[in-house]
Amino acid sequence: MPKWFVTLFAFLFGAAVGSFVNVCIYRLPRKLSIVQPPSHCPYCGATLTVVDLVPLLSYLWLGGKCRHCKTPISPRYFVVELLTALLFVAAVNKYSPSLEAFLVSASLAALVIIAFVDWEFFLVPDEAIWALGILGFIRYVNSMPDYHGVLTSIGGAILGGTIIWVIGVLGRLVFRKEAMGFGDVKIAAAVGTHLGVTWLMLPFFLFSVFIGAMMGLFVALVQRRSLTGYMPFGPAMAVAAAIVFLAPPSIVDFVLQIYGITR
Ligand SMILES: [Zn+2]
Repeated sequence: MPKWFVTLFAFLFGAAVGSFVNVCIYRLPRKLSIVQPPSHCPYCGATLTVVDLVPLLSYLWLGGKCRHCKTPISPRYFVVELLTALLFVAAVNKYSPSLEAFLVSASLAALVIIAFVDWEFFLVPDEAIWALGILGFIRYVNSMPDYHGVLTSIGGAILGGTIIWVIGVLGRLVFRKEAMGFGDVKIAAAVGTHLGVTWLMLPFFLFSVFIGAMMGLFVALVQRRSLTGYMPFGPAMAVAAAIVFLAPPSIVDFVLQIYGITR
């Protein structure tokens, strides 16, 4: 298959999945079904038809407004579709067309849901956590089809979750306020099934802390919120996981080398 065809296919498929990701971001935190009823405008209730539902293009040709009531639609819909499309391209670029690329793409879609829902609602949808965890387990067992794969993957979930849980307990003792929620423990456990009990945990947590700090600074500067205000840590972990999934091995090795670790 020519490379341009694979890239184009991944982009279009990713944009279509991005539409579904948008549905999940809206409906999961509101405890609504993700299959029923069909998509409708949240303001005027008009059911959306094929013209309104073409990924990326509908948003552009409707000028970011509902076709019926002209209420502006959040640019998040466009951003999420574009982001998911680009992540799928990156996954197929790194893993070439394979079951692995498909599993990584689906995992990235789950991470997008987790990041956006946690950012807005300070909660983590269990459906996305289970999807991310099961996909990681399948990835591991697919590449290591014996009991080692099973144990490493499940061990990774326990290790990842425990690290965040311990940080949360310590944070509560030291700062006397909630540092990590149980949602963060669940995210780390689900990402852990992908990383296994390996040194990949280290770049994942280092990137999480670094990105969390950057997000905190950004929010403080842009929204002029205080640096001590509460900010969810889940989006930072989701970005860190995506980096570890997609980064060339040299970047991960570079981080490990700083700590004198060779894998
Ligand atoms: Zn409308």
